[in-house]
Amino acid sequence: MRHDVNPMPSFKFHQITNYFILILLALVFSYFYVFDWRFLLFGIGYFIGTEYITPDLDTNSIPYNKAKPVWWLYKELFKHRKTSHNLFIGVISRLSYLIILYALAMYTLRWIFGLPVFPAGLQAEFMQFAREFAVQIILFIGGIAVANAMHIVLDITYSKVKRWTK
Ligand SMILES: [Zn+2]
Repeated sequence: MRHDVNPMPSFKFHQITNYFILILLALVFSYFYVFDWRFLLFGIGYFIGTEYITPDLDTNSIPYNKAKPVWWLYKELFKHRKTSHNLFIGVISRLSYLIILYALAMYTLRWIFGLPVFPAGLQAEFMQFAREFAVQIILFIGGIAVANAMHIVLDITYSKVKRWTK
């Protein structure tokens, strides 16, 4: 019999837990009178952080298989349940990875079509975007980060409970 040192909850279990927490968060948002477009943006981030950009992109998981070509290198770079499953560095590693991919794709596309490659500089372009949409970006990324944190908390709790009840 195979003994799993770190048993993992299924994707379905992650979905159910995350969406249950999202309902509780909706109540918190209503309490603070920000149950409007702000919750919507947070909710979209949270949804993406549950379905697509999750800590399990470091392994052959359901979210990983939804966009395999995008995350292939990420999976190769990060060992399962290490960096990607870190509460703070995890989400940062995924977002930085996507930004780098985006920058590479933009460079390539603009270069192919003979367009000026980031005339104002890549950093300047990002900074301008960040300044203009600071609140929206924080809410959206906040949604991803909270959903990812819930994933990690469930992973840890699940493994602990499984080990105790063995
Ligand atoms: Zn996990």
